[in-house]
Amino acid sequence: MNQRILVTGGAGFLGSHLVDRLLDKGHEVICLDNLFTGDKSNIRHLLQHPRFELMRWDVTDPFKIEVDQIYNLACPASPVHYQYNAIKTVKTSVMGAINCLGLAKRVKARIFQASTSEVYGDPQVHPQVESYRGSVNPIGIRACYDEGKRVAETLFFDYHRQNGVDIRVVRIFNTYGPRMNPDDGRVVSNFIVQALRGENITVYGEGQQTRSFCYVDDLVEGFVRMMETEDFTGPVNLGNPGEFTILELAEAVIRLTGSSSKIIQQPLPEDDPLQRKPDITLAREKLGWEPTVPLEEGLKRTIQFFEKLLAEG
Ligand code: NAD
Ligand code: UDP
Repeated sequence: MNQRILVTGGAGFLGSHLVDRLLDKGHEVICLDNLFTGDKSNIRHLLQHPRFELMRWDVTDPFKIEVDQIYNLACPASPVHYQYNAIKTVKTSVMGAINCLGLAKRVKARIFQASTSEVYGDPQVHPQVESYRGSVNPIGIRACYDEGKRVAETLFFDYHRQNGVDIRVVRIFNTYGPRMNPDDGRVVSNFIVQALRGENITVYGEGQQTRSFCYVDDLVEGFVRMMETEDFTGPVNLGNPGEFTILELAEAVIRLTGSSSKIIQQPLPEDDPLQRKPDITLAREKLGWEPTVPLEEGLKRTIQFFEKLLAEG
């Protein structure tokens, strides 16, 4: 059945892909975004769409709309952007969750939270399973994001227990693809842009830290399956279990772009997790979901996007 769906953060990287997907399925979509890290260019192709509406609004300010479902994605996601105004990042996660949950309670909407693998901090358990409670430094430079997202999860489960709100919580692991912001400092966009411009590739530390990279289309498929699954609140990990060192990623980007860029080392940022890889057993069991796009294929598609973006200037 077609529904009216609110997507907060819908003008961002993941949000805009989700909005495309929901419109394709025939739903009506309201995108609420303050355009802090998102960009109108991500949704420009939708501005005349009869079932799409853009609401320029800050999720920390209360709002009232009638909707059947809410996807709460509003939050800067890259370390550069979430550390730019750390206090605002906490407010966005916490007050944003309260405002969205209050709305969900009032209009009886099912509500989805874009949580993160960062709730596991610098993990002592590998790969990360949902039952692992994490190892987060509460006073470090990543805490505004990590703890903000942890409190958001707490609020989701308290609204569920106390008010019967119908929640869905996913923990997203590093995701990449077209429409990543070229300036947000995330590793995949940084390396591709550096390689295409022939600049040095900046590996932080020795590049032995690991991440698992999920292609955006796979992730969005997981979002929709989660939202459409009955009687399962999560939290559930969504990510690609393939694990790569950052050095391996740099080498793959150089190979696939044919770039003559050199790899250089820069200092490792504080509290940078040493390793990260999702255990997706639960997602396989409950959602029948697993990623289908291998890293090399996803990187090729992302490189094509950035080639076009850089050519347009
Ligand atoms: P993004 O920065 O591209 O998107 C975030 C969107 O939220 C942007 O459009 C931004 O303008 C908007 N926003 C920020 N603060 C807001 C506010 N106060 N009010 C209204 N809108 C606001 O990042 P993304 O990668 O698309 O991430 C989307 C969500 O997924 C975030 O909640 C992020 O924490 C989560 N997540 C992403 C990843 C990933 O690898 N991409 C991993 C884990 C979690
Ligand atoms: N990284 C890097 N060079 C860059 C950007 C990031 O070596 O130009 C490293 C970073 O230190 C981290 C990993 O790549 O170990 C992933 O960084 P990103 O900011 O993309 O995501 P997160 O640390 O939040 O997983």
